[in-house]
Amino acid sequence: MHTSALVLFSGGQDSTTCLAWALERYARVETIGFDYGQRHHVEMDVRPVVLEQLRRQFPHWHARLGQDHVLDLAVLGQISESSLTRETAIYMESSGLPNSFVPGRNLMFLTLAAALAYRRDLQVLVTGVCETDFSGYPDCRDDTIKAMQLALSLGMERRFLLETPLMWIDKAQTWALARRLGGPALVELIVEHTHTCYLGERSQRHDWGHGCGTCPACELRARGFAQFLAGPDTDT
Ligand code: ZN
Repeated sequence: MHTSALVLFSGGQDSTTCLAWALERYARVETIGFDYGQRHHVEMDVRPVVLEQLRRQFPHWHARLGQDHVLDLAVLGQISESSLTRETAIYMESSGLPNSFVPGRNLMFLTLAAALAYRRDLQVLVTGVCETDFSGYPDCRDDTIKAMQLALSLGMERRFLLETPLMWIDKAQTWALARRLGGPALVELIVEHTHTCYLGERSQRHDWGHGCGTCPACELRARGFAQFLAGPDTDT
């Protein structure tokens, strides 16, 4: 029986939904974020706001939501040529991966999260990775996560469970999952306070949230929200 979890929390729609998912399930939940010199500091800025809003609007989650940990991963910026840390446009590489791909980034995140979970005595790692996403990052795929669960459990001699609530659902279903977990209030919180836009744009407010509206992340979020509003009232 698992009672505690560490959620990889970036301040975006996906990880906020995963955090709500964990808060429904586990008695003790902590969060971890990584500051790796993202081109825009918006994500790091919205994290504490989202946590504060969750505490304020969902008193039954407040008691379960523990410490937030932010690790400095500036080293990622040193080795990365990715568009997430440099001022370059997002485009597809000849490999078929977007240039926003940072090789091994998610493996590093999971390894550090497991090390922290070990120290904090937390049993489950929750991450918002998704195979149905457009990006298809290989380190976000189900096989990779299963391999990491095994490697981390063996390498730290601690039985970790890696949970990926969003692995097989699309963005519309992610919105629906948020509604099921926290009702319209959680949907509104995610619209208003989370950040997804690659360009770090928050001056424009759309019905699906803040963002430039044209980058791949905004397009995905906007399309998912439209489908969610139009779709049947289900989340599976
Ligand atoms: Zn955008």
